[in-house]
Amino acid sequence: MARKLEEYQQRQKDLSLLGKPLARRAKSKCELCGDATSLKIYELNPQTDVIPERCCMLCDVCSIQLASGNLDPNHWYCLNDAMWSEIPVVQALSFKLLNQLQTDHGWAADLLEQMYIDEETKGLLEA
Ligand SMILES: [Zn+2]
Repeated sequence: MARKLEEYQQRQKDLSLLGKPLARRAKSKCELCGDATSLKIYELNPQTDVIPERCCMLCDVCSIQLASGNLDPNHWYCLNDAMWSEIPVVQALSFKLLNQLQTDHGWAADLLEQMYIDEETKGLLEA
């Protein structure tokens, strides 16, 4: 029990240390949609340790929809820009979201066709 709490606290500490460099990289904007409100660190497939390469800055709207899988297509036109990001975790998230959206939305399928993503980046999507 105490161990779990310790691990949790260590994780929160590691994440908070990432806050500043991530905010700088993200220019204090959501790395998917560019919104500047209520930014938080989002971890893609968290591992035992906090891995900066799996972290990005996201707004509430993006992180809630990502977590729930309940995607509002109107929000995700932003992927048109995000998919060209140079940051692998942002590319991986764009790829994942476009894949989910493409079943019902032709524009998402079109974007996926234009998108370039290497295998290593795709690997971030595997837990
Ligand atoms: Zn956002």
